[in-house]
Amino acid sequence: LSSKSEVLIEKENKYGAHNYHPLPVVLEKGEGVYVWDVDGKKYFDFLSAYSAVNQGHCHPKIVQAMVDQAQKLTLTSRAFYNDKLGNYEEYITKYFGFDKVLPMNTGAEAVETALKVCRKWAYEVKGIPENQAQVIVCENNFHGRTTTIISFSNDETARKNFGPFTDGFIKIEYDNLAALENALESSKNIAGFLVEPIQGEAGVYVPSEGYLAKAKALCEKHNVLFIADEVQTGIARTGKLLAVHHENVQPDILILGKAISGGVYPVSAVLANDEIMNVIKPGQHGSTFGGNPVAAAVAIAALEVIKDEKLAENAERLGVILRNGLNEIAERNHLITLVRGKGLLNAIVINSTEDSDLAWEICLKFRDNGLLAKPTHGNKIRLAPPLVMTEEQIKECLEIIEKSLNEFR
Ligand code: PMP
Repeated sequence: LSSKSEVLIEKENKYGAHNYHPLPVVLEKGEGVYVWDVDGKKYFDFLSAYSAVNQGHCHPKIVQAMVDQAQKLTLTSRAFYNDKLGNYEEYITKYFGFDKVLPMNTGAEAVETALKVCRKWAYEVKGIPENQAQVIVCENNFHGRTTTIISFSNDETARKNFGPFTDGFIKIEYDNLAALENALESSKNIAGFLVEPIQGEAGVYVPSEGYLAKAKALCEKHNVLFIADEVQTGIARTGKLLAVHHENVQPDILILGKAISGGVYPVSAVLANDEIMNVIKPGQHGSTFGGNPVAAAVAIAALEVIKDEKLAENAERLGVILRNGLNEIAERNHLITLVRGKGLLNAIVINSTEDSDLAWEICLKFRDNGLLAKPTHGNKIRLAPPLVMTEEQIKECLEIIEKSLNEFR
């Protein structure tokens, strides 16, 4: 590391709370699929800010939309109407096929919002007795780290000594329809089923084919809301606009974040039809920044880029090339034991135990060779570049990955 990087890292360590463990590299510029560090070294970004930068870094159209709006009006709060929000709400609801949207800022906030909407619906429409609603969630989920969300997380790091926790959650095995059916039949007070269509943070765990469609059907049978957390999997990441579209599922409540703004600005959203969303009345939920005009302008531009540049199609096509290439590498280099994923949300499993440092060491080697990735859950490395990659660039990245792995022999 250069002394310039070291000084900046020390500063973060001294003045910032130690709530992250970043890979040692200090970035100062991004463009498309590339980022540059403070010494001018260029890297392929293979994380995309956990799938927020699907449209590529600093996409000119999205940045322009932000700059134009920032020069005119940035924030009024929802105390007043603004000239951008209604147009954005019309745009995003038609884009995803829902009646209404509730605009928020971050992923975790949108998950909290969805849970509130679901509970309110359970009491006012389904008729569950007050304070009795239960939401089914999955083992090894990741939906954020707020106090309610960690109440139903398995992540001991995020939970230990942060209790007491919020009640009302039933945890079942992911990708297990019998477990879902049992849970649905266990009580009359089930309000919703909250699920990631692919478990991202758990190590890019793709459920069996048909799981989501059958889970949705089971929820319908029991009059329970199917709530899809597409914060990481949505916005073309997995090769379709939404990961649930691989199984032609329309969720009852859809949670979006991250790439809804292309990583340019914090924007998240909860979408549902009137029958559900109309349970929310003035004062029951909100946020000062939610639905601000900059967010609205940025999100429209970012969603336009997804369609204009056919990024879902590109993710689908390049994902196949990436996984084929990784599987070929795995045949020659036994450090990779498994390749999995969909579209450009992928992971390799490293031939080591969960608690070994090997995946971290490999990511340092990737960094030295010009590619940035991060281990997720011990021995898995997520490979999720921006969706604006070209086939040539993916091949270049496969060469970097193989070269780096070979340096471990
Ligand atoms: N849901 C899922 C599925 C996620 O992957 C994440 C972030 N990794 C979140 C929610 C939380 O989003 P945020 O960090 O914007 O709060």
